[in-house]
Parts: sequence; C-alpha cells; structure tokens
Amino acid sequence: MRTYTLEVPAPADLAIEVIGVPEGAPVTLDVRLESIVEGVLASAEISAPLVGECVRCLGEVTDRIDVDFTELYAYPGAIEHDPDDDEADEVHELTGDFVDLEQAVRDAVVLALPFQPYCRPDCKGLCPECGADLNEAGTEHGHEKIDARWAALVDALTRDDEHDETSETPQAPRTSDTPDQQDVP
Ligand SMILES: [Zn+2]
Ligand SMILES: [Zn+2]
Repeated sequence: MRTYTLEVPAPADLAIEVIGVPEGAPVTLDVRLESIVEGVLASAEISAPLVGECVRCLGEVTDRIDVDFTELYAYPGAIEHDPDDDEADEVHELTGDFVDLEQAVRDAVVLALPFQPYCRPDCKGLCPECGADLNEAGTEHGHEKIDARWAALVDALTRDDEHDETSETPQAPRTSDTPDQQDVP
C-alpha cells in the first residue's frame, strides 16, 4: 500500500451554481493506493476551500469542504462488463500505470456541495419589502403594512392628528376659507 499527500490546483468548474472550489485554489488530497486482484483500490480524503453566495442574503460564503471516496481502478478486462448492467460504465479502468483521480475527486466534491449555502446558520436574509440586509438592519426593521382598502381612512386619521396641534375646533369651518357661507346669519 502506498500513501501520498498531494496539493493540486482546483480544476475549473469544481462547483455548482451557488458555491464551489475557486479555480486554482489548493486542493489537498490524502491518497491511499492499494493493490488488489482486480486492480488498484484508491481512497482519498479531499480538503478544499469553498466560496459561494448565501441563498438568503446573497452575501459571500466562505467555507471548507472535506470529503472522501474510495474508487476501484480495474485492470483492463479484469471486471466483466455485463451489457445489461447500467453501472458497468461506472468502473474506472487503469490506463497504463496511471490512476486518474480527477473525475473521482470531481464527483465526490460536487456531490457534497451544499445546494443552499448560508453565510451563517441563522442568516436572516433580505427584507422582502425594501431589500435591506436584515442581518445589519436589526430586528426592529419592518414596514407598516396597510391594506389598500383602509389606506384612505388611515390617511384621514393621520391628518386629524396633525390638525389637533394647530386647531382646537377642527370641525368648525373657517369663514375666511369659505366665502360662500359668509352671508349665513
Ligand atoms: Zn446570508
Ligand atoms: Zn425593509
């Protein structure tokens, strides 16, 4: 059995839409290669940095991913392919003395990526009314929601409140503002 510790630059597209390993970022691989009858059994522990976008607040998410996999790389012809078996194509074959780990690394990492990354577990997201970041706006942030059918009434009530300060008898018409009524005794 042989073990290797490798650090390789991440290939492009080691990612899903919302999060992934930035291209060229260091991917650490602890690889174990074991010779067995059918070929080489490779197991690896992968560790890599992640950068993504929080699905709630669209802020940056930075994280790490740690996954492992075990994959058989068979000698050509060592495993009989059953034409009725859909999974037969999944068996990797050794090409010469090479074990090409990239596809296995890609599969393991991409499958383990979070579909809904959060910048933090309790991210409050954005205000649906104005788009403010609720993590920064605080818990008091909110908007008065007024049913449109009540809007006119609320408007009238608000005006009355304003008039209370300047007029003691808001219901009495001011004669100066209503010249038509000047002749009324
Ligand atoms: Zn967030
Ligand atoms: Zn808001």
